[in-house]
Amino acid sequence: MSGQGTGSGAVRTGGCACGQLTFEARGEPKRVGLCHCMTCRKISGSAFNAYVIYPADRVAISGERRGWSDTPATERFSCVVCGSPVFDRDAADEVELLLGAFDAPNLFAPTYECWTRRRETWLELHDLRSFPENREA
Ligand SMILES: [Zn+2]
Ligand SMILES: [Zn+2]
Repeated sequence: MSGQGTGSGAVRTGGCACGQLTFEARGEPKRVGLCHCMTCRKISGSAFNAYVIYPADRVAISGERRGWSDTPATERFSCVVCGSPVFDRDAADEVELLLGAFDAPNLFAPTYECWTRRRETWLELHDLRSFPENREA
């Protein structure tokens, strides 16, 4: 696979649809998961969001962004030009990059899903740890 190393030095890039807001993530993510909550549905306009969570100090972000919060704990950032959602912050030491914002498919596979109470019944997902609401430790 091009652009994907095997060591901790792997660098993966991504960004919004217009290319104004971009990121670079170094190394391997802490976890990869799906969220079916109503806010993820609404903000993406899709049935769920997929997140790739990195330590904050492994992610470099550049470009103009607009933040929006529905709860004090979470801020969601999108491109000021094209409006694409690109990443969330809900803990000081983590960045939640949207899986679909990466520049290549098949870099990551999710291992868990949250808010399955809101999951579409036609979705068939296999081998994921499921949480009816927020992820538990
Ligand atoms: Zn953009
Ligand atoms: Zn969600």
